[in-house]
Amino acid sequence: MTERIFEYLRSNDLPTPCLIVDLAAVEQAYRDLSRAFPDADIFYAVKANPEPAIVQALNELGCAFDVASPTEIDLCLQSGAPFDRLSYSNTIKKPADIGYAHKAGIDLFAFDCDGELEKIAGRAPGAQVICRIATECKGAEWPLSRKFGCSPVDAIRLLKKAKEIGLTPYGVSFHVGSQQTDVTQWDYAIGVTAEIFERLSEDADIDLEAIDLGGGFPARYRDPVDPLARYSDTIHIAIEKHFGNHKPRMILEPGRSLVGDAGVIESEIVLVSTRDTDPERRWVYLDVGRYHGLAETMDESIRYRVRTAHDGKEDGPVVLAGPTCDSTDILYEKADYRLPRAIKAGERIQLLSTGAYTASYSSVGFNGFPPLKTYCI
Ligand SMILES: *Cc1c(COP(=O)(O)O)cnc(C)c1O
Repeated sequence: MTERIFEYLRSNDLPTPCLIVDLAAVEQAYRDLSRAFPDADIFYAVKANPEPAIVQALNELGCAFDVASPTEIDLCLQSGAPFDRLSYSNTIKKPADIGYAHKAGIDLFAFDCDGELEKIAGRAPGAQVICRIATECKGAEWPLSRKFGCSPVDAIRLLKKAKEIGLTPYGVSFHVGSQQTDVTQWDYAIGVTAEIFERLSEDADIDLEAIDLGGGFPARYRDPVDPLARYSDTIHIAIEKHFGNHKPRMILEPGRSLVGDAGVIESEIVLVSTRDTDPERRWVYLDVGRYHGLAETMDESIRYRVRTAHDGKEDGPVVLAGPTCDSTDILYEKADYRLPRAIKAGERIQLLSTGAYTASYSSVGFNGFPPLKTYCI
């Protein structure tokens, strides 16, 4: 799929660094996911890449959207998405922003504690609410644990309370962690969710409708991942096992898996240096770094594949770093990256599968370097 991007890069001499996103690849990823989960509603997590052309393309395919702020709400509405295809899944919202969403017509909100529930009741009376439970995020390369989610026991109490204060208890959500490489992680959370459904139905006459299985579906980085079919098989088996004949409405909130593999960052090698203290390992400085879109290289968590003009020739160990005057602007030092010995300053290099969580993470101008520019083709 990225062949189109390389061709575009060859025929257009673009200033670097830049991100090229192939919209056809985004559309294909959406179709693949819909086919793997024909029984689920897909809400694209806009934060993964909020480029308007991406939102428009997905909207035209009937995709729904998971938003986290008034700006993301406006973006989706302006891209033609109807308000009833938006869900406000951020569990941390200002009252005014809840009110803004409610006025825009959004009726689906996530929460994970009393304070948030009360805010929603105040600013979006009667709204449907989804309670987010915590997960351990084991196996995730970019975990989303600790900060979000309540215990199952608390979820039961909170969803009862939601009804008491005039909201509509609608479902349970979780996120097993982004770039989740262990497909079995969903099974446990689905089991816990089924128990919450059962308890509420028996004890409080509350019939929840939806299970929100979050995102977490992987992009293709340096280490191989299981095919999508393994994810969908495992999740469908778990739903069957824990819910039997009472299948809930299934919601997915993919971000990374829809846009990650559809993007390539082109960068220029600014400098290649060797030090007498570590002569084996070259330091390769790129014109893109931690502060210009590669935030997920923090702790070397997300390991992008790198393509050079000399691939296949003899290689050697490297440290990859960004261009700024900050020593935290190192991409990979421990992750054993190797690049061809022939690479030189001034040459171009590509970082693959960089369509998700890059451009939107780029700083406004640290050290005077402008934000990463995106071209959608
Ligand atoms: C970021 C986020 C997602 C998307 O996660 P991916 O791992 O990128 O698929 C989904 N749901 C919520 C609530 C999120 O915050």
